[in-house]
Amino acid sequence: MKAKQKLCEAVDLLYSRGPTGSNGYARLLLECIRTNDFEQGKRLQSHMERHCFKPNDTFLQNRLLHLYAKCGKISSAQQLFVKMPQRDVFSWNAMLSLYSKLGLVENLRELFNRMPTRDSVSYNTVIAGFASCGCSEDALDFFLWMREEGFEPTEYTHVSILNACSQLLDLKLGKQIHGRLTASNLKMNVFVWNALIDMYAKCGEIDQARSLFNQMLDRNVVSWNSMIAGYLKSGQPGKCLDLFRQMQVLGVEPDLVTLSSVLGAYLQSGLVEEARRIFSEMNEKDRVCWTTMIVGYAQNGREEDALVLYSEMLSENVRPDSFTMSSVVSACAGLVSLDHGKVVHSQVILIGIEVDLRVSSALVDMYSKCGEITDAYDVFNRMATRNVVSWNAMIMGYAQNGMDKDALVLYDRMLKENLKPDNITFVGILSACSHASLIEDGQIYFNSISKLHGMKPTSDHYACMVNLLGRSGNVVEAVNLIKGMPDEPTSLIWSTLLSVCRINSDIKHAEIAARHLFELDPLDAGPYIMLSNMYAASGRWDDVASVRSLMKDRKIRKLAAYSWIEFNNKVHKFISDDRTHPQTEEIYRELSRLMVRLREEGFVPNTNLVLHDVGETEKVESICYHSEKLALAFGLIRKPRGAPIRIVKNIRVCSDCHLFMKFVSKVTDRHIVLRDSNRFHHFVGGQCSCKDYW
Ligand code: ZN
Ligand code: ZN
Repeated sequence: MKAKQKLCEAVDLLYSRGPTGSNGYARLLLECIRTNDFEQGKRLQSHMERHCFKPNDTFLQNRLLHLYAKCGKISSAQQLFVKMPQRDVFSWNAMLSLYSKLGLVENLRELFNRMPTRDSVSYNTVIAGFASCGCSEDALDFFLWMREEGFEPTEYTHVSILNACSQLLDLKLGKQIHGRLTASNLKMNVFVWNALIDMYAKCGEIDQARSLFNQMLDRNVVSWNSMIAGYLKSGQPGKCLDLFRQMQVLGVEPDLVTLSSVLGAYLQSGLVEEARRIFSEMNEKDRVCWTTMIVGYAQNGREEDALVLYSEMLSENVRPDSFTMSSVVSACAGLVSLDHGKVVHSQVILIGIEVDLRVSSALVDMYSKCGEITDAYDVFNRMATRNVVSWNAMIMGYAQNGMDKDALVLYDRMLKENLKPDNITFVGILSACSHASLIEDGQIYFNSISKLHGMKPTSDHYACMVNLLGRSGNVVEAVNLIKGMPDEPTSLIWSTLLSVCRINSDIKHAEIAARHLFELDPLDAGPYIMLSNMYAASGRWDDVASVRSLMKDRKIRKLAAYSWIEFNNKVHKFISDDRTHPQTEEIYRELSRLMVRLREEGFVPNTNLVLHDVGETEKVESICYHSEKLALAFGLIRKPRGAPIRIVKNIRVCSDCHLFMKFVSKVTDRHIVLRDSNRFHHFVGGQCSCKDYW
């Protein structure tokens, strides 16, 4: 501040006294450059022009140019540069440094090409300009040109070039530079070290990076960040966190970049709470941090937390981007929360990113998962461009919502538009075939995976085929398909077989499937329960007892079943026999009222499902209050007449509840959408879109 004041007084003095000599101006200009004082520089320029500017005083004009470039004042610099009667390489370099500083790469290129002579500063400036703007290929081109012309790069040029190598993942050139640096015995400063470490880490040579890091004496936070980010990128979050701890032990203060990486490391390793702790400790959070945390929640099944964090982000006035929005939309899809989903959709439109491929595909998926297939198609139809993810979202949406023909038609359209299907596309297509019992088509599509598209069918595809064959009553064929698989069948294959055996009441094959599952997933309660239900259905109570004692021996607990329904932006969750809801009395009254109506219509509760060997009345009692029935009753009480009722269940819906829903959709004339762990059920007028296969 003092220096600036002195400078101002000196210029004032000049104005009161009249012109001074070249040396006087030069000294004052140098002071302007040192203190970044653009204003005094302008005053000096007009003073000089009024009094003494000799037409060829290039030296003083260069000082002015240098000042304007340093202050980033483009019009003052350009005006001066244009009217200079003589320019030397310093004048040109000053302009180059201005364009480089402002990232005006096209001006930079044009000016460089017009230069009558160039020196090493010109090259270094241009390279730094291109590299810092991410134009890594241009930076490398100029670097090669520079070496052909015989100019020596400075250590800053090396930093720029190493950064360009990291961006282009050009390990070969990066290694060459490293070799030159070692051979030339140049003393490497901390920036060169950091750039080298970063280059190796980004190119996946994490051990090399680590060994350099160990040789490096004065590491700063950037060096640590390079290593931490490198480990994160190479999928070693544990090492990343180790380094973070070391860094803290050594007293190096982490910055925003460090914390973002560490946040990512915790979320890679599934340590959501740890990540949240780091997140809360961060004083300043940028969009990347918010988004990382939101994505982390969404991917770890913590959708509600993701939505809460998203609204916090908005209230902190951090603008979300397409990454944020697509994961927020996915969180809504995971919760089957159409209300939230619609709000988020309108925000997406407001921000103007509905056209973003990632966001629009997530929207298609969200509407499909909420059973709103028309809205899904609207979004899909409005998309200006579509990639395989968008097509997959729509095809899967149709398939999951029982619109199997539409899924297949869309697939044909996709092929006609020359898009290459991927594994997920075929899961959609094959499940559509299997819901629609299109055995032959299914076989053709399945064979086309390898024959037409040159891909290897995955176990998901095999599971679809087992499902398709089994549902059409060809359990033996399904078993043969499994036997012919090139790889070991996964638990998905066996559990698919088990469920088709249940549909076909094929206890013999069900036992085979269950035995494999008991080995592969010994702690998964599902297969034990399904097998014992099958035994119960055929009255084999001894076998039921032996499965139950096996479960007891292995300490396997049934996965607590629950259902939820959304009302007024609030999720209402129910478990079986739940009596905690504030409206419990009304709900149970509604259920018994329904039961009377349904019995009149011919509904008979399916008591075969009940595990225990108990009396008939007791059996009816225990299945009457399954969680989805409670959720349904709540929906019927609260949702306006005619409004569809959407229920989500965490496990597969039981056949009694399925039948119950069908009857309710008829007697109440309601559209009921039930999403269980397996698929969607749209109940309308006494029918279900799954055609009773699920
Ligand atoms: Zn049930
Ligand atoms: Zn159904």
